[in-house]
Amino acid sequence: MHNIEKNLETVRERIARYAQAYQRSPQDITLLAVSKTKPVTDIEIALAAGQRDFGENYVQEAEQKILAMQGKTISWHYIGPIQSNKTRRISELFDWVHSVDRYKIARRLSEQRPSELPALNILLQVNIENEPSKSGIAVDEILALAQKIAELPRVRLRGLMAIPAVHDDFDQQREPLARMFQAYRQLQQHCRDCDTLSMGMSADMQAAIAEGATLVRIGTAIFGPRAPVKNIES
Ligand SMILES: *Cc1c(COP(=O)(O)O)cnc(C)c1O
Repeated sequence: MHNIEKNLETVRERIARYAQAYQRSPQDITLLAVSKTKPVTDIEIALAAGQRDFGENYVQEAEQKILAMQGKTISWHYIGPIQSNKTRRISELFDWVHSVDRYKIARRLSEQRPSELPALNILLQVNIENEPSKSGIAVDEILALAQKIAELPRVRLRGLMAIPAVHDDFDQQREPLARMFQAYRQLQQHCRDCDTLSMGMSADMQAAIAEGATLVRIGTAIFGPRAPVKNIES
């Protein structure tokens, strides 16, 4: 068995185990395989092993992979920072965008979404620990932005996404994730379509499942460590 296959199996087992430990149903937790910097051959192996959702951070790199995999049953998720000159390509290539953090970007994605495709699923990225270096809106900005986005015809708001700071301690990991869950529950009172809370990466997956994540974004634990990125430009 290939490493990626084995890793996928292990990650799925962990999700099932954590779900059980926190009285949740494993079916309520989507595994997003983050394939950034990894070759198409890795995606093919994961696809053959039953993986359907893939996440990418860099538009140009993703475009090549998405075109190479055309015709396959894959949901592509854009999870990287968004520059406004990239919204057209993103709206053409992807099924989901996790990193919407301002109205202008949502409006452009809606305007540019090709008419033959279904509305683009989007999540609002929340800067849950108010880190100056990170993108994302503050918790108290969520409802106002969600309300404006609800008027846009070609995007469909599905929930929230967060990338908390790295904490080694389990309880420290849980604290911002718990605040994300509160914000998500509050948003759900105003947003019928909101069924997705995207949080948890290889290092904090258990804490994220404990705190109610419905989608975990896992790269390293599936595809192995990444080489440092030389070209950050997306
Ligand atoms: C790279 C990345 C991940 C995956 O991180 P791992 O630690 O490799 O699991 C998840 N989410 C985002 C936004 C990322 O950029």
